[in-house]
Amino acid sequence: MFYPLANKHGCFSSNSSCDAEDMEDMFNNIKDNVNTEEHFQAMVAETDPQAAGLGYKTDATKVDKAKYSKYAAGQACGNCQLFQGKAGAASAACPLFAGNQVSAKGWCNAYHKKGA
Ligand code: SF4
Repeated sequence: MFYPLANKHGCFSSNSSCDAEDMEDMFNNIKDNVNTEEHFQAMVAETDPQAAGLGYKTDATKVDKAKYSKYAAGQACGNCQLFQGKAGAASAACPLFAGNQVSAKGWCNAYHKKGA
């Protein structure tokens, strides 16, 4: 569990005050725990207007193939150039959906094969 307001000095407890060192400790604590924005990012919903507009599906096999004929089996966020996660990550950020994560098994119409 992550408690950003608790530190070794007891800062913010009933009878204490915070000095600069306390504040730096807290900042470093937060930084260590959220060193990737992904830590607190929610998954993109398929119903999100931008996601819906791009035909995003959390499961690429469920893509509307009649509407998105460019989709080919094997394409997925996890092997898309815009996927920000490391190899094997189940989900990661995508610049098209700032503040949210996409599933590695997902797909949208902006798919671009990694390395292509
Ligand atoms: S741009 Fe790529 S990583 Fe982002 S949602 Fe579309 S397929 Fe997934």
